[in-house]
Amino acid sequence: IKKIAVLTSGGDAPGMNACIRAVSLAAIGAGAEVIGYKYGYNGLLKQEYIHLDPYAVRNLLQRGGTVLHSARCEKFKQTDQLHIAAQHLNDAGVDGLVVVGGDGSFKGAERLQSIWDKPIVGVPGTIDNDVAGTDYTVGYHTAIQTAVESLDKVRDTAEAFERIFVVDVMGREAGFIALNSAISAGADHVLLPETFTTAAEELVKILDKLDKRRKNRANKSHIIVVTENLWPGGLNVLADSLQAESGVDVRILTLGHVQRGGSPVWQDRLLATKLGTYAVEIIKQGQKGMMSAINHRLPAAVPLNDVSIERKELNSYSMQIRDEISLLG
Ligand code: ATP
Repeated sequence: IKKIAVLTSGGDAPGMNACIRAVSLAAIGAGAEVIGYKYGYNGLLKQEYIHLDPYAVRNLLQRGGTVLHSARCEKFKQTDQLHIAAQHLNDAGVDGLVVVGGDGSFKGAERLQSIWDKPIVGVPGTIDNDVAGTDYTVGYHTAIQTAVESLDKVRDTAEAFERIFVVDVMGREAGFIALNSAISAGADHVLLPETFTTAAEELVKILDKLDKRRKNRANKSHIIVVTENLWPGGLNVLADSLQAESGVDVRILTLGHVQRGGSPVWQDRLLATKLGTYAVEIIKQGQKGMMSAINHRLPAAVPLNDVSIERKELNSYSMQIRDEISLLG
């Protein structure tokens, strides 16, 4: 291999820079040149790229965000644009492409692979952890850390006024961040897309929990973690119902994009370094349409096709203990 290209696409995640660095250093170590396309697939269509040498990637390991920028690129869904991208890769003399992103970005990678004859490898970079075939995705641990720190602070103020706080955390259609940040911060209830039934039923469950908790313990503040976009009509609707039924003051906090920022925690730095390095290994082996993954703690090449079909399950033991523990704490 003479030249490898890398791009970051879709929702940005802490550790994407660490992926860029790992891909670059591994490729340079293998004697290849490296280029980075800017703004996700847009850079590929516009032939907008930068050269990545060891100097360009210095100190990237610890930096949040992505120096290549990320973006959505609706145009890339058109087949004629995929052909243009393949032509641009050939024009630039690229022998292998690494796409760092989530499942949407992988769909694009898979479709481009069906047209282009050199290897394309996906690296799972998304805070949501909603990518099957890999134990974790890059950015996930940092997002949980950010959510946990915020929930700890919310607990302080909730206790002072004996309030209920409803906290919106990210996760798209998956409850990984919500479940694990809720347990790690000792939140009192968590609403997950994987188990959500109806607003009426969930409200009954929350009120029942509040009632039991009031009897069980001295603590009079309550923190309810909710996965983004889950409650029908939004969190105002939930907060109004809760306040009316419980008579307790309810406040809403949306953590929002802070969860995407910040210096990656060590788990994301290590994961990004492993996945980026292994992506180059997969390209060197000539394997096409793969995701670089850590599966049961070992590096693995997983077909992108399998990734898009499978839905990743939440940890069953975390699910089991979340209710048991929150009634007592
Ligand atoms: P995250 O889940 O963290 O937001 P993602 O990679 O899933 O990341 P998406 O917005 O779903 O984010 O997709 C990112 C980009 O991937 C899209 O803007 C588009 O350029 C490309 N993409 C998605 N689906 C397809 C598809 N079916 N064909 C071609 N390209 C696609």
